[in-house]
Amino acid sequence: MMPLPHRHLTSMLVRREGDLFLFDAGEGTQVSLRRLNLRWKKINAIFISHTHADHITGLPGLLMLSSQVDRDEPLYIYGPPKIAEYVESSRRVLDMYINYDIIVKEIQAPAVCYEGDGFRIRAFPLRHTKTCYGYALEEDMRPGAFHPERAAERGVPRGPLWSRLQAGQTVQSVDGMDVKPEDVLGSPRSGRKVSYITDSLYFPEVAAEVSGSDLLVCEGMFERELLPSAVEKKHMAAFQAATIARDAGGVKKLALIHYSPRYTDHDLRILLDEARQVFPETVLSKDRLRFPIDNVD
Ligand SMILES: [Zn+2]
Ligand SMILES: [Zn+2]
Repeated sequence: MMPLPHRHLTSMLVRREGDLFLFDAGEGTQVSLRRLNLRWKKINAIFISHTHADHITGLPGLLMLSSQVDRDEPLYIYGPPKIAEYVESSRRVLDMYINYDIIVKEIQAPAVCYEGDGFRIRAFPLRHTKTCYGYALEEDMRPGAFHPERAAERGVPRGPLWSRLQAGQTVQSVDGMDVKPEDVLGSPRSGRKVSYITDSLYFPEVAAEVSGSDLLVCEGMFERELLPSAVEKKHMAAFQAATIARDAGGVKKLALIHYSPRYTDHDLRILLDEARQVFPETVLSKDRLRFPIDNVD
């Protein structure tokens, strides 16, 4: 894979309530991050799919530039075996000045690798020419919707007691009866989920990893006609990404990434059309495209 004048290599940034998580750092990622006008020098953690150059050559520059801001928190880097060696040798050979801690954790087996307040990031195995992981950021379940009429029926007046019920606490009604959160809340609602898959053969089992994703970002490297080439190189065709999105269940949107440089921006339409025949809610991602993800219920 090579960068094109208007198409940098693969990377995805997730911003969640002030935290920033970067997935892969292909060449040119730094340029895009600068143009996004975010506090990107304070990225909390970086997750690397695999150690092919098109996914990691942007990393050393990012690490150096992050030294331009004061940060108290370490930067965590997760990835498959060899990622620690890559970071260490880059630091050593480039004589990098880095004024913060970098903690590299190699993922030995698929698991939750990062846990934050109310969410986690999980690595799952892909099938490529070397060890490669997909990632899913999953939020905890949210409490069910609050039904004010149920609270009123049970003798709980509007005010702070309602807030306490919504926060999961049992309160007392005006008659001194216990009113529990489950008496006034609907069933728990799912949190948001973003999944990331790139550089893999298609295999049906991967769909289960990304079920319920509000956004699935997935490799769509080739058109259907070039499937033999995709299989040989252990990559995926766009319609196969759409097959994953369709079969996973509950995926709201698919954004294709990691296109073969053989496609001009105009030609990408072929990939989009083939994917939409399988999963209509498909879009082509492009540099610095943003997807807001809100809780809808
Ligand atoms: Zn690769
Ligand atoms: Zn790649």
